[in-house]
Parts: sequence; structure tokens; C-alpha cells
Amino acid sequence: MTLRPLPPWLIPYWQQLITAHQQQRLPHALLLGGNLGMGKTQLAQHLAAALLCMQPTPTGESCGQCQACHLLRAGNHPDFSQLMPLEKSTQILIDQVRGLIQFCSLTANYGRYQVAIIEPAEAMNVNAANSLLKLLEEPPDNTLLLLISHHPMQLLPTIRSRCQRLDLNRTDPHVIHSWLKEQLGAGHDIELLLTLTANAPLAAIQLAQQEGLNQRQSLFSSLADLSNGKLDPIKTAAQWAQHEVGQVLYWLISWMMDVIRFAQTQQNQHILNQDQQTAIQQLAQRLSLIQAFEFLDLLTEHYRLAQGTVALKPNSLLEPITLAWVALTAPMRKTA
Ligand SMILES: [Zn+2]
Repeated sequence: MTLRPLPPWLIPYWQQLITAHQQQRLPHALLLGGNLGMGKTQLAQHLAAALLCMQPTPTGESCGQCQACHLLRAGNHPDFSQLMPLEKSTQILIDQVRGLIQFCSLTANYGRYQVAIIEPAEAMNVNAANSLLKLLEEPPDNTLLLLISHHPMQLLPTIRSRCQRLDLNRTDPHVIHSWLKEQLGAGHDIELLLTLTANAPLAAIQLAQQEGLNQRQSLFSSLADLSNGKLDPIKTAAQWAQHEVGQVLYWLISWMMDVIRFAQTQQNQHILNQDQQTAIQQLAQRLSLIQAFEFLDLLTEHYRLAQGTVALKPNSLLEPITLAWVALTAPMRKTA
């Protein structure tokens, strides 16, 4: 585990947590909720390090020097455990939770805390979640379970109710905005980045730095080229498949939702992809609402498949999309 300095929007949450710890008010289970890219993991890791450190600083931070800090950094601290989907799986399984229960039944090797991070908590399948519930009902002393969730509403209500919740989406947008501006410098549309990532600064910076915006731009232009017959749907699907399929489908969904929003309101301010206004307006005029909704259904269905537990080839998820898109928009070209 590598600890980086906390970005400014996480500081108030950090202070709240470390004060609770210093006043011995920390709960046994904490649910950190918020969109992907809000920094939930970073916050959880900072807290874990602070609780395990043998010589924390006067402000409660981990020292980074003691044996516990060294072990944690090397991934070998015996009082720290982390649950996430195993390789090639999207789920956290019951055996992993059983391992966690056993971990919690031991005495802390270094006599301080035992800390476990479960991430993302919604990846626990039903059996795993029910098993965790038993642990939450009778939590051992000096144990902190840190549940990280991008979608807390997908957790069992009984799990949610047994955790103290901290919602990172309540962050002051001005703090995020100025941090991004400072990090990225000139030449980036910060409003657009934040709109596209649901105001999650780490996701926004990733989108800006990983050529994400260029990928999105070329994706949208290939839609137009598919419609006027300049591109082949099968080859285009293969090209899209070189990017992360979930991301590709996410962008297409946001685009189609914009078409529907504009068709229903005729107002630009409701469009999410503000840089695509003209194309979206034109589509909203050409497609019927039924066609637009049917295409949106197709996209969300494939998005769910892409996030699901069965591993599907990216091409097989994207070809139905490009083919349907051509079938939908090519007739418009002939009559235009
Ligand atoms: Zn330390």
C-alpha cells in the first residue's frame, strides 16, 4: 500500500475520522460511499495506516517510519486484511468473508487495531454478504471494517444499517474544481470533465490524462461516419473494443440520453455532452422517441452484460451496437 498525501477535498472527512478515533468514538464498521473517483480508497488506506502505526504524529497521521508502517507498505502487515474480487471474478465470495471472520477472531499481533478494507462492498454475493452480516452483528473489539462502495444502495439494507456511513459525494464542488484546475493547468474543459465523471475528481483527472477525452471524441465521430457509410460496423466494433468496453458503452449511453433529453425539452442546458450539442440536436430531430429509447435499451442491456459475471468478448458486445446503429441511421441518409 502506497500512501500519497490526501487531496484537499478529503481533508474534512479525514479530520472527522481521526478526531473520532482520538476520542475513541470510531465505530466497528464504516461505510465509505461515493462515486468512483472520489478518493474513498485513499481515505480508507490513510485511516488504516493511522490506526496500525505504532508512533502516529500528534495530528494522528501514520509516521511512515515504524515497523508497522513498513509492513503495511510492503503489504505484509498481519493486522491488515483486504477483500476484493479475486482475479477473473467480479464477486467477493463467501470463502473470502470466512477468511476475514477468522482474521478478526485473532488477537492483533501488534496489540493495536485490526483493520480490513472490503472493496467494492457491493461485489459481495448474497452468501458472502450474509456471512459478513454475522460479523457486523457481533464485532470484535479494536476491529475496524472499512466497507467501500460506489453504489451503497446495492448493499443489503441490514448491512447498511449496521455501518456508520460517510458519503463523499457531499464534497464542496468549489474545492474539487479549483484542485482540478491546479492539477491540469490550462487547456482542459473542467466543467465538462466533471459533468462526465459525476463530479469525481480522480475520475476526471484520469479521463483528462489518459487521452480519455480523445477516445470519446473519436467514438462520437465514428458514429457519424457509420451513419453515412464511411465506416464498416464490424471493423468499427473491433476498433472500439480496444478501449475499455464499459467506458465505451457508458459514453454511448450518456450520448443517447442527451438525444432523448433534448427531444423532450428542446433545451441545450439539459445536455450532458455540452461539446456535442449540434450532433445531438440533429439526431433528436431525425430519430423518433421510440427509436431513441429502443437504442438506449440496447446500450444499457449490453452495459449490464459488460459489468456482469460472465466474461464476454468485447467485440461480441459492441458489434450488435454498431450494426443496430447503422440499421437505425442509414435509412435517414437515403431519405435526406
Ligand atoms: Zn508508523
